[in-house]
Amino acid sequence: MAHGERSDQPRFIVIGAGMAGILAAIKLREAGFDDFTVYEKADRLGGTWRENTYPGIACDVPSHLYSYSFAPNPSWSRQFSPGAEIQAYFEDVARRHGIGTAIRFGEEVTRCAFEDGRWRIQTARGTSDTADFVIAATGVLHHPAIPEIEGLDSFGGAVFHSARWDHGVPLDGARVGVVGTGSSAIQIVSALVDRVASLTLFQRTAQWIMPVNNPAYSDAEKREFARNPAAMEEIRAAVSQAFIQGFANVLVDIESPLLQAIHDACVANLEGSVTDPVLREKLRPTYRAACKRLVMSPDFYQAIQRPNAALITERIERVEPSGVRTADGALRELDVLVLATGFRVDRFVRPMRVVGRDGVELDDVWNGGPSAYLAIAVPDFPNFFMLNGPNGPVGNFSLIDVAEMQVGYILQLVEQVRAGNCSEIGVSRAAMQRFDADRAEAAKSTIWATGCRSWYLDAGGLPTAWPWTFDRFVEEMQRPRLADYDLR
Ligand code: NAP
Repeated sequence: MAHGERSDQPRFIVIGAGMAGILAAIKLREAGFDDFTVYEKADRLGGTWRENTYPGIACDVPSHLYSYSFAPNPSWSRQFSPGAEIQAYFEDVARRHGIGTAIRFGEEVTRCAFEDGRWRIQTARGTSDTADFVIAATGVLHHPAIPEIEGLDSFGGAVFHSARWDHGVPLDGARVGVVGTGSSAIQIVSALVDRVASLTLFQRTAQWIMPVNNPAYSDAEKREFARNPAAMEEIRAAVSQAFIQGFANVLVDIESPLLQAIHDACVANLEGSVTDPVLREKLRPTYRAACKRLVMSPDFYQAIQRPNAALITERIERVEPSGVRTADGALRELDVLVLATGFRVDRFVRPMRVVGRDGVELDDVWNGGPSAYLAIAVPDFPNFFMLNGPNGPVGNFSLIDVAEMQVGYILQLVEQVRAGNCSEIGVSRAAMQRFDADRAEAAKSTIWATGCRSWYLDAGGLPTAWPWTFDRFVEEMQRPRLADYDLR
């Protein structure tokens, strides 16, 4: 499109058909943009919910909040519904909005380059395509982090990452080891302990556990939700406010009494739930609650106190054919070893190669760690926008809400092109620098910077997540500050 020329019908490429990619497709169509293709590397949509199928998987954001605002679901089975139900929800929403035909499955975008004013993509299969805009909806926690443990390959049993669960491996009556104590591990331990002969949890760092109940919705409640969607709206609004005011906003204020209350609730949970004083102390973290992402669980402390469960805090020395050898010399014999060791959060849209204006490589720009203006845009990459990109508000609240706001914001940027004000729009270097500097300064007074290791931190130990209140994010997303953008 030449500058000044109106185009009511620019073309879009959306990368990824997870929660955010499906959302982008629905919202593009709603805004009157019908010319788009969603490229998805897998053979099914669903992103995180397609990839993570481990026993016990559930979302710890209440289901009526972890839903698209425009697609409430009266059938959620529980307050925190299981992963398979969430996967089915996304498939259903995509089907109802007729998005399926716009998705090209089995097409991994390997290169994405800005050439002659348009984005050209190539896929692993050799497909190429061009578009005016790219929306990268490639996820945050996507690439499994496989720990470097000596002898891992020599293990004689089954070994797999929590996000690559091998459902062919029998678990009933097996001796199962789990490495890690993040949200994934905690859910796995609770789900497996009563099925397996023994459950050995290898803990490098103890976790604070926030107690939560997970009541099922009765048939009568579900009928009422279906009959009266306003009832779901009410729950959504109440839960959203509670999360924002009681959690998201206080993470960035280490002096907040609410943060102290969360800490106290976690301490009370530990002390009221774990009877053996030795085990209790092994489970007691030495940092403040919510420094790492807060783990929510109704039943982990019960699970780890079962007679067939063992908490191992000695360092893992190596893996041997028959099990895990710890630094105290003991060999823990196992049939199955689950690596619930988290994700490579520094990847974001990579390994896709993204080449911006004048051959600028995203890999080079992100050499010191990924960052993006308002988690959406990077200078020199005009008409390329991310959903849930680096520096966004990721935490214990709904990323769906975040993505919905971001799509609304991106569509306002696109509007500048549709209106003929420019043909390219990208964040300016000055705005990016200012954002990064302000962000680094603000990050110092967040709970994530209070002395623990977590996936919130970059290689230099600085928290990368949105360091301001959630309210500020909502405000920023209302309307782009066009002075921060280069329009060409
Ligand atoms: P994670 O929070 O990054 O936890 C990884 C765990 O593995 C940590 O306990 C870590 O120990 C341990 N670990 C890593 N490398 C190790 C090594 N070499 N030796 C020993 N231990 C090692 O990963 P996650 O549990 O998969 O969760 C990631 C995120 O996904 C969560 O924070 C959350 O945002 C999301 N999630 C959400 C839900 C939900 O319900 N909504 C469920 C699961 C996951 P250290 O603590 O010592 O580093």
